[in-house]
Amino acid sequence: MTTNATSPGPLVDTFGRRISYLRISVTDRCDFRCVYCMSEDMTFLPRKDVLSFEEIDAFASAFIARGTTKIRLTGGEPLVRRDIMTLVDRLGSHLGKGLDELTVTTNGSQLVRHARGLAAAGIRRINVSLDTLDHQRFATITRRGRLDDVLAGIDAAQQSDLAVKINMVAMRGVNDDEIEPMMHWAHGKGMGLTLIEGMPLGEVGIDRVDTYLPLRQLHEALSARYTLTRLDQRTGGPARYVHVSETGGTLGFITPMSHNFCESCNRVRLTATGQLFLCLGQDDQVNLRDAYRQDGFDGLNAALDHAMLIKPKGHDFVIDRAHPQPAVARHMSLTGG
Ligand code: SAM
Ligand code: SF4
Repeated sequence: MTTNATSPGPLVDTFGRRISYLRISVTDRCDFRCVYCMSEDMTFLPRKDVLSFEEIDAFASAFIARGTTKIRLTGGEPLVRRDIMTLVDRLGSHLGKGLDELTVTTNGSQLVRHARGLAAAGIRRINVSLDTLDHQRFATITRRGRLDDVLAGIDAAQQSDLAVKINMVAMRGVNDDEIEPMMHWAHGKGMGLTLIEGMPLGEVGIDRVDTYLPLRQLHEALSARYTLTRLDQRTGGPARYVHVSETGGTLGFITPMSHNFCESCNRVRLTATGQLFLCLGQDDQVNLRDAYRQDGFDGLNAALDHAMLIKPKGHDFVIDRAHPQPAVARHMSLTGG
């Protein structure tokens, strides 16, 4: 096995898209069971197959050597993985040495414990997923969580000087009446709010057709009531942002269903067991763990070259009664959104 990362060139797929953004799911486990994400009875990946921190750091090094400038830790819930701060510190040591940004997407339940450590490792911004400010609703949507823990976590993050963006899955008949109150709350606390369309990944606990809320319509409705100015903040993902004059805050729309931005996709997703998924809505993947365990960095780089050849052009999500099956069988918790 070779022991150091070589740099055979930037990662560019067959559609000319440069891959500069890696999302790492550090665990598929979670302390919540959000109805759109997981079923009540989930089977999780065997612990023995999960990548070690050394392996994750080696993979991150290989990606950074090939032009990855941004890494997001996600899950499952990343902050429930044991000793997660050890990994965060290790990955944080790449900042300024090829890596421009390290971020986390979290449900917020463990932030009181970890906010300070995240900031100390060089993290500047985090995303916290929160779909409601109503205690009862929160318990229903997450099936497990306590809203007060998340709210205290958000406060802890802000006190640690982490910029917080709230991610809210917008669901018709579930929380659509809270979109405006959530926007005022988030903007009032200096946080952005990004709305997400529910995506058809894995069998879960809600009827996705009933709860699907096309954000394009919502955008139009909000435009009639607020002064929305389009911001040129591009992330290479399906998010578009507006500035809301009345609140002074930023509102984002992630619209993989009603508007597809695959042509500018710059990202790939690593699962906790080392599969690299090349599109959120397709099954194409390469097994980085096996490649690395067999042939070290040479194997890893060969697998990455192969990945660039098979990254699909895009997804073709549909949610309607004629398509009752999920687009892919795996749950969002495997790849982390
Ligand atoms: N546990 C962390 C959290 O909730 O932020 C990180 C992982 S979670 C899978 C990442 C994001 O995916 C969350 O914002 C969550 O709301 C979103 N998500 C999960 N399942 C989804 C689905 N089927 N459609 C759209 N968004 C989903
Ligand atoms: Fe857990 Fe995040 Fe999925 Fe909710 S959305 S079940 S918090 S992984």
